[in-house]
Amino acid sequence: MKEAEKIKLLQEQLKRISALPFYENRFQAGGINPEDIRSLEDFQKIPLMDTKDLQKDLEEHPPLSSLFHPDTIRVTLSPGPKGLMPVYHSRQDVEEVNKELAAMYRACGVGPEDIAAITFGYHLFIAGITIHGGFETLGCKTIPLGPGESERTAEILNRFKVTVLASNPSFALKLAQEGVRSIRLLFAGGEPFSSVEGYKEKLRQAFGPIGLIDSYGLGQSTPVARECKEERGLHVADNLIFLEIVEPETGKVLPHGERGEVVITHLRRQGSPLLRFRTGDLSVMEHIDCPCGRKATLTKGVLGRTDEMHKVKGVKLYPSQIDHLLRPLPDYTPGKYRVIISPKPGGGDLFQLIVEGKYPGPSATEKIVERMKETLLIKPDKVEFVEKLPEGPKVMDERYK
Ligand SMILES: [Zn+2]
Repeated sequence: MKEAEKIKLLQEQLKRISALPFYENRFQAGGINPEDIRSLEDFQKIPLMDTKDLQKDLEEHPPLSSLFHPDTIRVTLSPGPKGLMPVYHSRQDVEEVNKELAAMYRACGVGPEDIAAITFGYHLFIAGITIHGGFETLGCKTIPLGPGESERTAEILNRFKVTVLASNPSFALKLAQEGVRSIRLLFAGGEPFSSVEGYKEKLRQAFGPIGLIDSYGLGQSTPVARECKEERGLHVADNLIFLEIVEPETGKVLPHGERGEVVITHLRRQGSPLLRFRTGDLSVMEHIDCPCGRKATLTKGVLGRTDEMHKVKGVKLYPSQIDHLLRPLPDYTPGKYRVIISPKPGGGDLFQLIVEGKYPGPSATEKIVERMKETLLIKPDKVEFVEKLPEGPKVMDERYK
């Protein structure tokens, strides 16, 4: 989308939402006049918001919050600081998301002849019902399976020769092990996927040469970004969303290619509209030339959460990235690692990594260390493999004791 077009959509949305008490108050407090926002530079002066702000609005405007829209036809819930918070979707919101998802699925080669099945949850949360709407809009025969019960799910997939599956990748793998073979396209989400090295290969070994489409959405807003059939990273759903990457500590917008926190703004949404909303998710945005025509792309998927950041040797370390890098090891159980940061005798930080599982040999260990240096810009001083990791946190920071 061209910048002028983006600005126009943002201006229109600002005008619409400035009538809501939540935004009216924020604009007043921040000295913002929506009519003065004429460029992306102006836009970046608008203060960021997060779930705590939504929680406060809910408490100040009970029971619905001030972000309720009178044309709401769907209410989903999303975890907040003090419990589940409502997310409102007007008829127009639902139709626009349906249209966007149907276009994305069509671009991946899905058609009305396909039989689709969804194993994401349908109750309370946004995922299952939203994806379902996209497939139905496209005209697929769509089966609402919901999560769990892999044996029964496999039986249904085989009986109806389901060709398109929307599922989290770990459950899809389980279904392959249950003997499901008719799938030609998997729409994955809900878990780290394309950011985990070797994960897609693992699924192709199980299912054969299928299309594997990673996606990223939030409890407050789905879709945010999704791969196309080229599988070159997750294209931002920029008909619906304006996405920025900011420095987590300062909130400053980062240039393309730099790792930071994903911040989203709805371009058209009526119910629960978000303006410069901090997601807490880390990613990298680049503009690429994809044959599908989309440019703004999260090339590395979602890399972790901002709230797990530790500063080691002057570099920001996000532990879940370590988990992603360890996953190609054959004997590794996800999450079974520990980072120990301690003061180095003579000054500086000592960074040790302990992994549960069999020692994979010197060359595999060296490869992991090299990949860490490349991706995290920091490598451990020592890597150790143990048979059983004792109970305890993933990160032990012994520097400030
Ligand atoms: Zn593409």
